[in-house]
Amino acid sequence: MRRLLLVLVLALVALATVLVSRAMRFRLPPPPATRTAVAIDADSAAARLAGAIRFPTITREDGVTDSATFRGLHAYLAKAYPRTHATLARETVGGLSLLYTWKGTDTTLAPIVLMGHLDVVPVIPGTEAQWTHPAFDGVVRDGFIWGRGTLDDKATVTGVLEAVEHLVAKGYAPPRTVLLAFGHDEEGGGNVGAPAIVARVKSLGYPTPALVLDEGGAVMEDRFPGVKGAAALVGVAEKGYLTLELVATGKGGHSSTPPSSTQIGRLARAVAALEANPFPESLNDASKGMLEALTPGMSFERKLVMSNLWLTERFVRAALLRDPASAAMLRTTTAATIIRGGAKDNVLPQEAIAKVNFRIAPGETVESVIAFVRRVIADSTITVRQSGIFKSDPSPVSRTDGAAFRLVAESIRESLGKEPPLIVPYLVVGGTDSRYWSQAGAPDVFRFSPVPFEADALSRVHGTDERIAVEGYAKGIAFFVRLLEQLSALR
Ligand SMILES: [Zn+2]
Repeated sequence: MRRLLLVLVLALVALATVLVSRAMRFRLPPPPATRTAVAIDADSAAARLAGAIRFPTITREDGVTDSATFRGLHAYLAKAYPRTHATLARETVGGLSLLYTWKGTDTTLAPIVLMGHLDVVPVIPGTEAQWTHPAFDGVVRDGFIWGRGTLDDKATVTGVLEAVEHLVAKGYAPPRTVLLAFGHDEEGGGNVGAPAIVARVKSLGYPTPALVLDEGGAVMEDRFPGVKGAAALVGVAEKGYLTLELVATGKGGHSSTPPSSTQIGRLARAVAALEANPFPESLNDASKGMLEALTPGMSFERKLVMSNLWLTERFVRAALLRDPASAAMLRTTTAATIIRGGAKDNVLPQEAIAKVNFRIAPGETVESVIAFVRRVIADSTITVRQSGIFKSDPSPVSRTDGAAFRLVAESIRESLGKEPPLIVPYLVVGGTDSRYWSQAGAPDVFRFSPVPFEADALSRVHGTDERIAVEGYAKGIAFFVRLLEQLSALR
Protein backbone atom coordinates (compact mmCIF):
# COMPACT_ATOMS: atom_id res chain seq x y z
CA MET A 1 0.00 0.00 0.00
CA ARG A 2 2.73 2.45 0.98
CA ARG A 3 4.68 1.56 -2.14
CA LEU A 4 1.67 2.30 -4.29
CA LEU A 5 1.24 5.67 -2.61
CA LEU A 6 4.89 6.47 -3.16
CA VAL A 7 4.66 5.60 -6.86
CA LEU A 8 1.57 7.79 -7.14
CA VAL A 9 3.26 10.74 -5.48
CA LEU A 10 6.35 10.34 -7.65
CA ALA A 11 4.16 10.21 -10.76
CA LEU A 12 2.37 13.39 -9.71
CA VAL A 13 5.65 15.17 -9.06
CA ALA A 14 6.92 14.08 -12.47
CA LEU A 15 3.74 15.31 -14.14
CA ALA A 16 3.92 18.66 -12.35
CA THR A 17 7.56 19.01 -13.41
CA VAL A 18 6.67 18.34 -17.02
CA LEU A 19 3.73 20.77 -16.95
CA VAL A 20 5.69 23.57 -15.31
CA SER A 21 8.84 23.11 -17.35
CA ARG A 22 6.81 23.22 -20.55
CA ALA A 23 5.12 26.41 -19.34
CA MET A 24 8.50 27.96 -18.52
CA ARG A 25 9.68 27.53 -22.09
CA PHE A 26 7.24 30.20 -23.25
CA ARG A 27 9.03 33.47 -22.63
CA LEU A 28 8.74 36.83 -24.28
CA PRO A 29 11.46 37.39 -26.87
CA PRO A 30 14.06 40.05 -26.03
CA PRO A 31 13.35 43.52 -27.38
CA PRO A 32 14.71 44.14 -30.89
CA ALA A 33 18.13 45.66 -31.41
CA THR A 34 17.87 49.42 -31.31
CA ARG A 35 18.46 50.98 -34.68
CA THR A 36 18.14 54.55 -35.72
CA ALA A 37 14.48 55.30 -36.22
CA VAL A 38 13.33 55.67 -39.80
CA ALA A 39 12.93 59.42 -40.31
CA ILE A 40 9.45 59.89 -41.75
CA ASP A 41 7.86 63.31 -42.22
CA ALA A 42 4.51 62.15 -40.87
CA ASP A 43 2.56 65.31 -41.66
CA SER A 44 3.47 65.52 -45.32
CA ALA A 45 2.94 61.75 -45.71
CA ALA A 46 -0.50 62.17 -44.12
CA ALA A 47 -1.30 64.96 -46.55
CA ARG A 48 -0.41 62.72 -49.50
CA LEU A 49 -2.63 59.91 -48.20
CA ALA A 50 -5.43 62.44 -47.68
CA GLY A 51 -5.06 63.37 -51.35
CA ALA A 52 -5.60 59.74 -52.35
CA ILE A 53 -8.73 59.54 -50.17
CA ARG A 54 -10.29 62.33 -52.28
CA PHE A 55 -10.65 59.92 -55.21
CA PRO A 56 -13.84 57.95 -54.46
CA THR A 57 -12.63 54.75 -56.13
CA ILE A 58 -15.73 52.84 -55.10
CA THR A 59 -16.46 49.24 -55.97
CA ARG A 60 -20.22 49.44 -56.24
CA GLU A 61 -22.78 46.78 -55.51
CA ASP A 62 -24.11 46.96 -59.10
CA GLY A 63 -20.64 46.32 -60.53
CA VAL A 64 -20.42 49.64 -62.42
CA THR A 65 -16.89 51.03 -62.19
CA ASP A 66 -16.12 54.72 -62.50
CA SER A 67 -12.93 54.25 -64.52
CA ALA A 68 -12.18 57.97 -64.73
CA THR A 69 -11.89 58.19 -60.93
CA PHE A 70 -9.46 55.26 -60.84
CA ARG A 71 -7.39 56.86 -63.61
CA GLY A 72 -7.47 60.09 -61.64
CA LEU A 73 -5.98 58.23 -58.67
CA HIS A 74 -3.33 56.65 -60.91
CA ALA A 75 -2.29 60.11 -62.14
CA TYR A 76 -2.34 61.49 -58.60
CA LEU A 77 0.01 58.75 -57.33
CA ALA A 78 2.48 59.52 -60.14
CA LYS A 79 2.51 63.18 -59.09
CA ALA A 80 2.64 62.51 -55.33
CA TYR A 81 5.54 60.01 -55.55
CA PRO A 82 7.71 61.36 -58.36
CA ARG A 83 10.96 59.54 -57.50
CA THR A 84 9.17 56.21 -57.30
CA HIS A 85 7.58 56.79 -60.67
CA ALA A 86 10.88 57.84 -62.19
CA THR A 87 12.66 54.71 -60.92
CA LEU A 88 10.07 51.91 -60.99
CA ALA A 89 8.29 50.69 -64.11
CA ARG A 90 4.52 50.93 -63.82
CA GLU A 91 1.89 49.22 -65.92
CA THR A 92 -1.87 49.02 -65.81
CA VAL A 93 -3.12 45.44 -65.60
CA GLY A 94 -6.60 43.95 -65.64
CA GLY A 95 -8.13 47.25 -66.68
CA LEU A 96 -7.43 49.47 -63.67
CA SER A 97 -5.02 47.60 -61.39
CA LEU A 98 -1.41 48.74 -61.08
CA LEU A 99 1.79 46.68 -61.17
CA TYR A 100 5.09 48.36 -60.30
CA THR A 101 8.46 46.72 -60.89
CA TRP A 102 11.50 47.83 -58.90
CA LYS A 103 14.31 45.86 -60.47
CA GLY A 104 16.65 44.17 -58.04
CA THR A 105 20.42 44.24 -58.37
CA ASP A 106 20.27 40.45 -58.79
CA THR A 107 17.43 39.66 -61.16
CA THR A 108 17.97 35.90 -60.87
CA LEU A 109 16.60 35.97 -57.30
CA ALA A 110 12.91 35.41 -56.59
CA PRO A 111 11.02 38.72 -56.29
CA ILE A 112 8.85 39.83 -53.39
CA VAL A 113 5.31 41.12 -53.88
CA LEU A 114 3.80 43.88 -51.75
CA MET A 115 0.04 44.04 -52.29
CA GLY A 116 -2.73 46.51 -51.59
CA HIS A 117 -5.96 47.60 -53.22
CA LEU A 118 -7.04 50.89 -54.73
CA ASP A 119 -10.80 50.44 -54.37
CA VAL A 120 -13.02 51.13 -51.37
CA VAL A 121 -16.53 50.23 -50.29
CA PRO A 122 -19.27 52.87 -50.60
CA VAL A 123 -20.65 54.84 -47.68
CA ILE A 124 -23.97 53.29 -46.64
CA PRO A 125 -26.64 55.63 -48.07
CA GLY A 126 -28.27 57.63 -45.29
CA THR A 127 -25.23 57.49 -42.97
CA GLU A 128 -23.27 60.33 -44.62
CA ALA A 129 -24.28 62.84 -41.95
CA GLN A 130 -22.89 60.61 -39.18
CA TRP A 131 -19.33 61.14 -40.42
CA THR A 132 -17.32 63.67 -38.42
CA HIS A 133 -15.68 64.71 -41.70
CA PRO A 134 -17.12 63.79 -45.11
CA ALA A 135 -15.86 60.39 -46.23
CA PHE A 136 -14.13 61.60 -49.39
CA ASP A 137 -12.88 65.03 -48.30
CA GLY A 138 -9.50 63.69 -47.15
CA VAL A 139 -9.35 65.66 -43.91
CA VAL A 140 -6.33 65.56 -41.58
CA ARG A 141 -7.34 66.81 -38.13
CA ASP A 142 -6.86 66.03 -34.43
CA GLY A 143 -4.00 63.67 -35.18
CA PHE A 144 -6.00 61.54 -37.60
CA ILE A 145 -6.42 61.10 -41.33
CA TRP A 146 -10.15 60.72 -41.90
CA GLY A 147 -12.02 59.10 -44.74
CA ARG A 148 -13.15 56.01 -46.57
CA GLY A 149 -10.14 53.90 -47.45
CA THR A 150 -7.77 55.12 -44.75
CA LEU A 151 -7.86 51.74 -42.96
CA ASP A 152 -8.95 49.62 -45.88
CA ASP A 153 -6.68 49.84 -47.81
CA LYS A 154 -5.23 53.07 -49.22
CA ALA A 155 -2.86 53.50 -46.27
CA THR A 156 -1.17 50.30 -47.42
CA VAL A 157 -0.89 51.51 -51.02
CA THR A 158 0.46 54.96 -50.15
CA GLY A 159 2.43 53.55 -47.18
CA VAL A 160 4.37 51.27 -49.54
CA LEU A 161 4.88 54.13 -51.99
CA GLU A 162 6.12 56.41 -49.18
CA ALA A 163 8.65 53.76 -48.17
CA VAL A 164 9.87 53.31 -51.74
CA GLU A 165 10.06 57.08 -52.23
CA HIS A 166 12.12 57.37 -49.03
CA LEU A 167 14.51 54.59 -50.07
CA VAL A 168 14.92 55.78 -53.67
CA ALA A 169 15.84 59.20 -52.29
CA LYS A 170 18.54 57.53 -50.17
CA GLY A 171 19.90 55.81 -53.26
CA TYR A 172 18.85 52.35 -52.09
CA ALA A 173 18.74 49.58 -54.67
CA PRO A 174 16.90 46.42 -53.61
CA PRO A 175 18.96 43.23 -53.78
CA ARG A 176 16.02 41.40 -55.38
CA THR A 177 13.14 42.64 -57.49
CA VAL A 178 10.25 44.23 -55.64
CA LEU A 179 6.81 44.09 -57.24
CA LEU A 180 4.02 46.34 -56.02
CA ALA A 181 0.62 44.90 -56.88
CA PHE A 182 -2.39 47.13 -56.31
CA GLY A 183 -5.74 45.62 -57.32
CA HIS A 184 -8.80 47.66 -58.22
CA ASP A 185 -11.71 45.32 -57.39
CA GLU A 186 -10.86 43.64 -54.08
CA GLU A 187 -14.06 44.84 -52.46
CA GLY A 188 -16.04 43.16 -55.23
CA GLY A 189 -14.29 39.81 -54.73
CA GLY A 190 -11.05 40.64 -56.52
CA ASN A 191 -11.90 38.43 -59.48
CA VAL A 192 -10.29 40.67 -62.10
CA GLY A 193 -7.30 42.67 -60.85
CA ALA A 194 -5.43 40.21 -58.64
CA PRO A 195 -5.57 37.19 -60.97
CA ALA A 196 -4.58 39.44 -63.91
CA ILE A 197 -1.53 40.64 -61.98
CA VAL A 198 -0.54 37.08 -61.03
CA ALA A 199 -0.89 36.02 -64.68
CA ARG A 200 1.15 39.01 -65.85
CA VAL A 201 3.98 38.35 -63.37
CA LYS A 202 4.02 34.68 -64.35
CA SER A 203 4.16 35.58 -68.04
CA LEU A 204 7.27 37.68 -67.34
CA GLY A 205 9.03 34.50 -66.24
CA TYR A 206 9.77 35.36 -62.61
CA PRO A 207 10.45 32.55 -60.15
CA THR A 208 7.81 32.01 -57.43
CA PRO A 209 7.94 35.02 -55.08
CA ALA A 210 10.04 34.67 -51.92
CA LEU A 211 7.45 36.70 -49.99
CA VAL A 212 3.94 37.96 -50.69
CA LEU A 213 2.47 40.47 -48.26
CA ASP A 214 -1.16 41.63 -48.40
CA GLU A 215 -3.69 43.20 -46.04
CA GLY A 216 -5.31 41.08 -43.35
CA GLY A 217 -4.17 41.14 -39.73
CA ALA A 218 -3.03 44.20 -37.82
CA VAL A 219 -1.55 45.30 -34.53
CA MET A 220 -4.25 45.39 -31.87
CA GLU A 221 -4.21 46.15 -28.14
CA ASP A 222 -5.75 43.71 -25.66
CA ARG A 223 -7.35 41.71 -28.44
CA PHE A 224 -7.21 38.38 -26.60
CA PRO A 225 -8.62 37.75 -23.13
CA GLY A 226 -5.82 36.93 -20.71
CA VAL A 227 -3.10 38.31 -23.00
CA LYS A 228 -1.77 41.68 -22.00
CA GLY A 229 -0.57 44.33 -24.42
CA ALA A 230 -0.31 44.56 -28.17
CA ALA A 231 -0.44 41.64 -30.57
CA ALA A 232 0.49 41.77 -34.25
CA LEU A 233 -1.77 39.36 -36.07
CA VAL A 234 -0.09 38.06 -39.20
CA GLY A 235 -2.41 36.00 -41.38
CA VAL A 236 -0.71 32.74 -42.41
CA ALA A 237 -3.78 31.29 -44.13
CA GLU A 238 -7.26 32.31 -45.16
CA LYS A 239 -10.50 30.42 -45.13
CA GLY A 240 -12.29 29.28 -48.24
CA TYR A 241 -15.70 30.54 -49.31
CA LEU A 242 -18.84 28.86 -50.55
CA THR A 243 -22.55 29.70 -50.61
CA LEU A 244 -24.99 26.87 -51.23
CA GLU A 245 -28.63 27.08 -52.24
CA LEU A 246 -30.93 24.49 -50.75
CA VAL A 247 -34.04 24.14 -52.88
CA ALA A 248 -37.19 22.25 -51.93
CA THR A 249 -39.63 21.85 -54.82
CA GLY A 250 -42.93 20.01 -55.13
CA LYS A 251 -46.59 20.29 -55.94
CA GLY A 252 -48.51 23.38 -54.91
CA GLY A 253 -52.22 23.44 -54.20
CA HIS A 254 -54.80 24.75 -51.80
CA SER A 255 -53.69 25.32 -48.24
CA SER A 256 -56.94 23.84 -46.91
CA THR A 257 -55.78 20.32 -47.82
CA PRO A 258 -52.02 20.33 -47.14
CA PRO A 259 -49.69 17.34 -47.07
CA SER A 260 -48.01 16.54 -43.76
CA SER A 261 -45.14 18.89 -44.68
CA THR A 262 -44.83 21.72 -47.21
CA GLN A 263 -41.68 22.71 -49.12
CA ILE A 264 -41.14 25.29 -46.40
CA GLY A 265 -41.32 22.68 -43.66
CA ARG A 266 -38.83 20.40 -45.40
CA LEU A 267 -36.45 23.26 -46.11
CA ALA A 268 -36.69 24.48 -42.51
CA ARG A 269 -35.77 21.01 -41.27
CA ALA A 270 -32.73 20.96 -43.56
CA VAL A 271 -31.52 24.33 -42.27
CA ALA A 272 -32.16 23.28 -38.68
CA ALA A 273 -30.19 20.06 -39.26
CA LEU A 274 -27.21 22.08 -40.50
CA GLU A 275 -27.29 24.29 -37.41
CA ALA A 276 -27.62 21.30 -35.11
CA ASN A 277 -24.64 19.57 -36.78
CA PRO A 278 -21.77 22.03 -37.03
CA PHE A 279 -18.61 21.02 -38.85
CA PRO A 280 -16.11 19.17 -36.68
CA GLU A 281 -13.65 21.52 -35.00
CA SER A 282 -9.93 21.01 -34.71
CA LEU A 283 -6.86 22.95 -33.77
CA ASN A 284 -5.52 23.39 -37.31
CA ASP A 285 -1.93 24.46 -37.94
CA ALA A 286 -2.92 28.12 -38.12
CA SER A 287 -4.92 28.19 -34.87
CA LYS A 288 -2.34 26.09 -33.04
CA GLY A 289 0.37 28.52 -34.11
CA MET A 290 -1.77 31.38 -32.83
CA LEU A 291 -2.22 29.84 -29.38
CA GLU A 292 1.49 29.07 -29.12
CA ALA A 293 2.44 32.61 -30.07
CA LEU A 294 0.05 34.10 -27.51
CA THR A 295 1.26 31.95 -24.64
CA PRO A 296 4.32 34.05 -23.64
CA GLY A 297 1.99 37.01 -22.97
CA MET A 298 -0.21 35.05 -20.55
CA SER A 299 -0.33 34.68 -16.79
CA PHE A 300 1.47 31.63 -15.36
CA GLU A 301 -1.77 29.68 -14.79
CA ARG A 302 -2.87 30.24 -18.39
CA LYS A 303 0.61 29.40 -19.62
CA LEU A 304 0.37 26.14 -17.74
CA VAL A 305 -2.83 25.26 -19.59
CA MET A 306 -1.74 26.48 -23.03
CA SER A 307 1.72 24.97 -23.00
CA ASN A 308 0.35 21.51 -22.22
CA LEU A 309 -2.16 21.09 -24.98
CA TRP A 310 -1.35 17.35 -25.09
CA LEU A 311 -3.29 17.20 -21.83
CA THR A 312 -5.59 20.23 -21.98
CA GLU A 313 -6.59 20.50 -25.65
CA ARG A 314 -10.16 19.32 -25.03
CA PHE A 315 -10.80 22.04 -22.46
CA VAL A 316 -9.09 24.74 -24.51
CA ARG A 317 -11.15 23.81 -27.55
CA ALA A 318 -14.37 23.89 -25.55
CA ALA A 319 -13.49 27.35 -24.22
CA LEU A 320 -12.66 28.65 -27.70
CA LEU A 321 -15.90 27.32 -29.14
CA ARG A 322 -17.98 29.40 -26.74
CA ASP A 323 -17.03 32.63 -28.55
CA PRO A 324 -18.07 32.95 -32.24
CA ALA A 325 -14.88 34.83 -33.17
CA SER A 326 -12.56 32.17 -31.79
CA ALA A 327 -14.87 29.34 -32.87
CA ALA A 328 -14.47 30.56 -36.46
CA MET A 329 -10.72 29.83 -36.16
CA LEU A 330 -11.36 26.18 -35.38
CA ARG A 331 -13.93 25.04 -37.89
CA THR A 332 -15.79 25.62 -41.12
CA THR A 333 -18.67 27.90 -40.18
CA THR A 334 -22.29 27.55 -41.30
CA ALA A 335 -24.50 30.63 -41.64
CA ALA A 336 -28.00 30.52 -43.12
CA THR A 337 -28.34 34.02 -44.58
CA ILE A 338 -31.38 34.06 -46.91
CA ILE A 339 -34.65 32.12 -46.94
CA ARG A 340 -37.47 32.54 -49.44
CA GLY A 341 -40.66 30.64 -50.23
CA GLY A 342 -44.37 31.01 -50.74
CA ALA A 343 -46.37 33.75 -52.43
CA LYS A 344 -49.77 33.84 -50.71
CA ASP A 345 -50.96 32.75 -47.30
CA ASN A 346 -53.59 30.34 -48.64
CA VAL A 347 -51.47 28.78 -51.40
CA LEU A 348 -49.05 25.86 -50.89
CA PRO A 349 -45.59 26.92 -52.06
CA GLN A 350 -44.12 25.05 -55.02
CA GLU A 351 -40.61 26.07 -54.11
CA ALA A 352 -38.65 27.22 -51.08
CA ILE A 353 -35.01 28.32 -51.23
CA ALA A 354 -32.44 28.92 -48.50
CA LYS A 355 -28.92 30.25 -48.95
CA VAL A 356 -26.26 29.08 -46.54
CA ASN A 357 -22.79 30.63 -46.46
CA PHE A 358 -19.77 28.54 -45.46
CA ARG A 359 -16.28 29.77 -44.54
CA ILE A 360 -14.08 26.78 -45.10
CA ALA A 361 -11.31 25.95 -42.62
CA PRO A 362 -7.91 24.54 -43.66
CA GLY A 363 -8.15 20.81 -44.13
CA GLU A 364 -11.47 20.92 -45.95
CA THR A 365 -12.47 21.81 -49.50
CA VAL A 366 -15.51 23.07 -51.42
CA GLU A 367 -16.18 19.42 -52.39
CA SER A 368 -15.95 18.07 -48.86
CA VAL A 369 -18.29 20.80 -47.59
CA ILE A 370 -20.92 19.92 -50.20
CA ALA A 371 -20.64 16.23 -49.29
CA PHE A 372 -21.00 17.04 -45.58
CA VAL A 373 -24.08 19.19 -46.22
CA ARG A 374 -25.79 16.45 -48.27
CA ARG A 375 -25.05 13.90 -45.55
CA VAL A 376 -26.42 16.09 -42.75
CA ILE A 377 -29.57 17.12 -44.61
CA ALA A 378 -30.18 13.48 -45.58
CA ASP A 379 -33.11 14.44 -47.82
CA SER A 380 -32.68 13.52 -51.47
CA THR A 381 -35.67 15.64 -52.48
CA ILE A 382 -33.78 18.81 -51.54
CA THR A 383 -31.47 20.06 -54.27
CA VAL A 384 -28.10 21.36 -53.08
CA ARG A 385 -26.33 23.66 -55.55
CA GLN A 386 -23.72 26.39 -55.55
CA SER A 387 -25.05 29.95 -55.34
CA GLY A 388 -23.38 32.63 -57.47
CA ILE A 389 -20.06 32.14 -59.23
CA PHE A 390 -17.63 32.82 -56.41
CA LYS A 391 -16.15 30.00 -54.39
CA SER A 392 -12.69 29.24 -53.07
CA ASP A 393 -10.88 26.51 -51.21
CA PRO A 394 -8.99 27.53 -48.08
CA SER A 395 -5.40 28.60 -48.73
CA PRO A 396 -2.51 26.45 -47.58
CA VAL A 397 -0.97 27.51 -44.25
CA SER A 398 2.26 29.46 -44.82
CA ARG A 399 5.28 28.38 -42.81
CA THR A 400 6.30 30.43 -39.79
CA ASP A 401 9.77 28.94 -39.45
CA GLY A 402 11.12 30.36 -42.72
CA ALA A 403 13.11 33.49 -43.53
CA ALA A 404 10.08 35.30 -45.00
CA PHE A 405 8.01 35.12 -41.81
CA ARG A 406 11.05 36.10 -39.76
CA LEU A 407 11.60 39.14 -41.97
CA VAL A 408 7.98 40.27 -41.51
CA ALA A 409 8.14 39.64 -37.75
CA GLU A 410 11.41 41.49 -37.27
CA SER A 411 10.20 44.43 -39.38
CA ILE A 412 7.13 44.66 -37.12
CA ARG A 413 9.18 44.48 -33.95
CA GLU A 414 11.64 47.11 -35.14
CA SER A 415 9.17 49.64 -36.48
CA LEU A 416 6.22 49.59 -34.12
CA GLY A 417 7.53 51.18 -30.98
CA LYS A 418 9.50 50.59 -27.82
CA GLU A 419 7.40 47.71 -26.56
CA PRO A 420 7.15 45.43 -29.55
CA PRO A 421 3.91 43.48 -29.95
CA LEU A 422 3.67 39.72 -29.71
CA ILE A 423 3.88 38.30 -33.23
CA VAL A 424 0.84 36.08 -33.67
CA PRO A 425 0.28 33.97 -36.78
CA TYR A 426 -3.44 33.47 -37.32
CA LEU A 427 -6.16 32.30 -39.69
CA VAL A 428 -7.88 35.09 -41.67
CA VAL A 429 -11.60 34.29 -41.65
CA GLY A 430 -12.36 36.63 -44.58
CA GLY A 431 -10.77 36.65 -48.02
CA THR A 432 -7.95 38.71 -49.53
CA ASP A 433 -6.50 39.16 -53.01
CA SER A 434 -3.42 37.22 -51.88
CA ARG A 435 -5.23 33.89 -52.32
CA TYR A 436 -4.34 34.05 -56.02
CA TRP A 437 -0.67 33.88 -55.06
CA SER A 438 -1.35 30.93 -52.78
CA GLN A 439 -3.14 29.25 -55.66
CA ALA A 440 -0.13 29.98 -57.86
CA GLY A 441 2.02 28.02 -55.43
CA ALA A 442 3.75 30.78 -53.42
CA PRO A 443 4.66 29.18 -50.07
CA ASP A 444 5.25 32.38 -48.08
CA VAL A 445 2.08 34.47 -48.28
CA PHE A 446 1.31 36.68 -45.29
CA ARG A 447 -1.56 39.02 -44.53
CA PHE A 448 -0.73 41.98 -42.34
CA SER A 449 -1.40 45.74 -42.37
CA PRO A 450 1.26 47.62 -40.42
CA VAL A 451 -0.72 50.71 -39.35
CA PRO A 452 -1.69 49.93 -35.71
CA PHE A 453 -5.42 49.64 -35.09
CA GLU A 454 -7.30 51.74 -32.56
CA ALA A 455 -9.46 49.77 -30.13
CA ASP A 456 -12.61 50.40 -32.19
CA ALA A 457 -10.99 50.19 -35.62
CA LEU A 458 -12.87 47.05 -36.64
CA SER A 459 -16.18 48.93 -36.51
CA ARG A 460 -14.69 51.70 -38.65
CA VAL A 461 -13.51 49.38 -41.44
CA HIS A 462 -16.37 49.50 -43.98
CA GLY A 463 -18.22 51.61 -41.34
CA THR A 464 -18.60 55.25 -40.32
CA ASP A 465 -15.69 57.57 -39.43
CA GLU A 466 -12.98 55.38 -40.92
CA ARG A 467 -9.67 56.95 -39.90
CA ILE A 468 -6.05 56.23 -38.94
CA ALA A 469 -3.70 58.06 -36.58
CA VAL A 470 -1.02 60.13 -38.30
CA GLU A 471 1.54 58.71 -35.89
CA GLY A 472 0.38 55.15 -36.60
CA TYR A 473 0.65 55.79 -40.32
CA ALA A 474 4.28 56.86 -39.89
CA LYS A 475 4.94 53.56 -38.06
CA GLY A 476 3.35 51.67 -40.94
CA ILE A 477 5.65 53.44 -43.42
CA ALA A 478 8.65 52.65 -41.19
CA PHE A 479 7.60 48.98 -41.29
CA PHE A 480 7.79 48.92 -45.09
CA VAL A 481 11.13 50.77 -45.05
CA ARG A 482 12.58 48.21 -42.60
CA LEU A 483 11.25 45.32 -44.60
CA LEU A 484 12.65 46.62 -47.88
CA GLU A 485 16.01 47.48 -46.28
CA GLN A 486 16.44 43.96 -44.98
CA LEU A 487 15.53 42.03 -48.09
CA SER A 488 18.95 40.44 -48.09
CA ALA A 489 17.77 38.45 -45.03
CA LEU A 490 15.72 36.39 -47.48
CA ARG A 491 18.78 34.89 -49.11
ZN1 LIG B 1 -9.30 45.55 -47.96
